[in-house]
Amino acid sequence: MAVASTSAAPARPSILTVDDDPGVSRAVARDLRRRYGDTYRIVRAESGEEAMTALREMKLRGDRVAMLLADYRMPQMSGLEFLEAAMDLYPAARRVLLTAYADTGAAIEAINVIDLDYYLLKPWDPPEEKLYPVIDAQLESWRDADVRHSSVTKVVGHRWSARSSEVREFLARNQVPYRWYFSETPEGSRLLDAAGADARMLPLVVTPDGQALIAPTDAELATRVGLATTPSKDFYDVIVVGGGPAGLGAAVYGASEGLRTVLLERVATGGQAGQSSRIENYLGFPDGVSGAQLTERARRQAVKFGAELITTRDVVSLEVNGPARTVRFADGAWIDGHTVILATGVSYRKLDGTGLDDMTGRGVFYGSALTEASNCANEDVYIVGGANSAGQAAVYLAHGAKSVTLLVRGKSLQESMSYYLIQQLGEIPNVRVRTCTEVIAAYGDDHLERLTLRDSVTGETETVEASWLFVFIGAQPHTDWLDGVVVRDARGFVLAGPDLTVPGGTPPGWDLDREPFHLETSIPGVFVAGDARSESAKRVASAVGEGAMAVMLVHRYLDGL
Ligand SMILES: Cc1cc2nc3c(=O)[nH]c(=O)nc-3n(C[C@H](O)[C@H](O)[C@H](O)COP(=O)(O)OP(=O)(O)OC[C@H]3O[C@@H](n4cnc5c(N)ncnc54)[C@H](O)[C@@H]3O)c2cc1C
Repeated sequence: MAVASTSAAPARPSILTVDDDPGVSRAVARDLRRRYGDTYRIVRAESGEEAMTALREMKLRGDRVAMLLADYRMPQMSGLEFLEAAMDLYPAARRVLLTAYADTGAAIEAINVIDLDYYLLKPWDPPEEKLYPVIDAQLESWRDADVRHSSVTKVVGHRWSARSSEVREFLARNQVPYRWYFSETPEGSRLLDAAGADARMLPLVVTPDGQALIAPTDAELATRVGLATTPSKDFYDVIVVGGGPAGLGAAVYGASEGLRTVLLERVATGGQAGQSSRIENYLGFPDGVSGAQLTERARRQAVKFGAELITTRDVVSLEVNGPARTVRFADGAWIDGHTVILATGVSYRKLDGTGLDDMTGRGVFYGSALTEASNCANEDVYIVGGANSAGQAAVYLAHGAKSVTLLVRGKSLQESMSYYLIQQLGEIPNVRVRTCTEVIAAYGDDHLERLTLRDSVTGETETVEASWLFVFIGAQPHTDWLDGVVVRDARGFVLAGPDLTVPGGTPPGWDLDREPFHLETSIPGVFVAGDARSESAKRVASAVGEGAMAVMLVHRYLDGL
């Protein structure tokens, strides 16, 4: 293992340097240690992979990382690839690239691509002139941001409380940084005392400006942490329902093409993709991109073009009022639009079995592996599912967990998972795959303690000790509220365009003398995009593409009004 460090006090933030040339690597570390060794822990690696391993360990330990210095030219994982991947773990760390003069063009491009903070030319002698002033400035910027970061939202909760888990998930998915405290720790009790609350009033959320919210609803939380929850107008050109990739795609294209666009999301933008630890097959990201990163960029892009993004608003009905399409919220408020794009996606089906409902949020989680990952470090983890989402969760959780067991109902993963993921899983020593296995029961007092598994071939059952079960099984569309409003298929997915009609025909109640456009539902001017559409591809790229395409069809519809 080439990762080495000074004998460090864990409280010191780290500077991590990675260079494949051992001589250069040692020289950088030596110069850094000479000047910063008292205040910072200097961590050295000789490849991007080793540096990522070190960073993952540091993340799990809760270490702070102030700066990442990476050599541009490294075999396997280049400096840029490393810095991009490291952003997922330590987005606030300053990113510096070490380059030779000949590579400065690439370094300049990287400033935009990966938000590079600085590129340093090799050699850096004398360091007093060429290295330290740069590092000093970068560390100062990091310290400023870190001070701001220390006034983040704080959440105090019980380890096995479903609502505490939901609150953390809500904040994480809305990209609100927070610190999490178990209620029984000294800091947790101190915060509870300060808020005049006790352990029966959890979770407690303390906002950066010091307001204490006791067991807040999502809507209260959203308002207090600065997320928009109310549309500013009562009429829009296009109302997008759902903030996953399809909805965000529609919002970006709608707003960028001059349409008054509002996106309404019931929980947090990003949808299912926002919960993905690494999306490997999205065009333009050869090294993968985390769902959180993709969502954050898409949000910024939509807002830049003028789209309004509204969270914690559940749309419960859709009506036709002459030329207007009206959507209503759960609290009875409504807004009108010329057109509506339904992008409500799908969610995981619930696992049937004794005790499983009871344990939800208390050891049994649906698709929330990311937020819970740090809590199950060094523990045995079970995952149910044989598709890519389950495979990704297994790869992600295996970094910190003692063991990860993937429980698959089918005979093999080949039937349901991408080849690249199967290969990855096969290479991780602490991941085990059990095929032909179902979970039939979950037991525990205040949290999950045991699972009963059944071999679907022999019928034999086995009870195993387990505190963590993550479930990633088939999907059902979020379209119940559209029952009797738009035409859906037998499983509830919304039918659109040619799927609605026999050639030359029109859907029931359709009164226009044209056939529905490609993504148009049985209501003119109401379109569907992404996973909620019948026969959709269930991929990020296709959802984004359909969002963009729906906007093109919105223009066509508006031209015909
Ligand atoms: C863990 C995981 C990993 C994945 N990995 C990959 C991958 O690597 N590659 C890939 O191509 N695909 C992947 N997928 C699939 C991909 O994420 C989906 O195909 C994609 O997110 C679908 O986008 P969507 O916008 O149609 O729907 P969703 O992402 O499901 O978003 C729908 C949104 O609508 C909101 N909503 C629903 N109903 C309402 C309502 N009534 N009012 C307001 N809001 C509402 C929901 O809260 C949700 O945010 C993964 C999925 C998961 C869960």
